[in-house]
Amino acid sequence: MSKTLIQFSNVGFSYGDRVALDSLSFEIREGELFCVVGPNGGGKSTTFKILSTLLKPRSGSVSFWGIDGVKHPEKVRPQLGVVFQSPALDKKLTIEENLVYHGKLYGLRGASLIQKVENLLKRFSLFDRKDERVEKLSGGLKRRVEIAKSLLSDPKLLILDEPTTGLDPVARREMWSYLDTLRKEQGISIVFTTHLMDEAESADRTLVLNHGKVVTSGTPTELKSQMGGDVISLRTTHPEALKEAIEKKFSVPVKKVDDELRIEKMEGARFIPTLVEAFPHQILSVTLGKPTLEDLFIHLTGQRFVGGEA
Ligand code: ADP
Ligand code: MG
Repeated sequence: MSKTLIQFSNVGFSYGDRVALDSLSFEIREGELFCVVGPNGGGKSTTFKILSTLLKPRSGSVSFWGIDGVKHPEKVRPQLGVVFQSPALDKKLTIEENLVYHGKLYGLRGASLIQKVENLLKRFSLFDRKDERVEKLSGGLKRRVEIAKSLLSDPKLLILDEPTTGLDPVARREMWSYLDTLRKEQGISIVFTTHLMDEAESADRTLVLNHGKVVTSGTPTELKSQMGGDVISLRTTHPEALKEAIEKKFSVPVKKVDDELRIEKMEGARFIPTLVEAFPHQILSVTLGKPTLEDLFIHLTGQRFVGGEA
């Protein structure tokens, strides 16, 4: 197993009286693509800010490769590449100028700076457009410039807050392919937050947050194995009554989520005909699916997963 890179131990944070993180513990390992997923208000951005050492937790500790990041943020900061949700680029400057000025902030100078900027521009397919002003760029391109910029300091860990929010599907795919290449070629570790459950499916490991608490964590396979089989969803005119009737007749737990009934069952396909024959008039529609992370969220919290653009 690879080494621990980041360790959150019982991290708590509140904005005034509002608890944003409640005793959060998890670890991120070296080389991992780690996802923090959760609904709007779940605590993702607060986790991101603590990870990037911008916020100090009110309680608990955060260790970065063995260094206490709460006591010594200055020791870990140079090794972090941070990409904020809203672009932190100078709009009036060109792509290249943004990178050069940022590099200077990090103490890079002369030929080595120029070389580094050129390499990054090429790596992110920005070289041909390096003289364009940032204000003219699409959201996807801006995000690419932002990521390129965050890599100037050769960070060990790249941290991104909702990197795909606001991007169209094409730009989203492109961004993931750049990040993938980066990991393969440089072995950099990446942590990203998202409110899209399907993005969590492509991470090595995922932490699911809700109301500032860990709902669950693990690899996508581990997470899905927490579900008891297939998911059968039913539509009916009287969900409460049908829920009771099914539970009584078949002794299976039925969850009512909004107006839908959901049953988790091994070999769900075999159960459907029996179910429909037993209640021919009450069932309006039936669907069968392999469990997704969204199903897991419902399974563990009893709530539908509603992401937001916040
Ligand atoms: P997410 O990024 O998952 O949407 P956040 O970490 O931004 O969640 O927020 C977690 C909780 O903290 C939410 O209840 C949110 O309303 C609250 N919160 C976030 N930022 C502030 C702030 N600056 N002042 C007060 N409450 C905040
Ligand atoms: Mg957020």
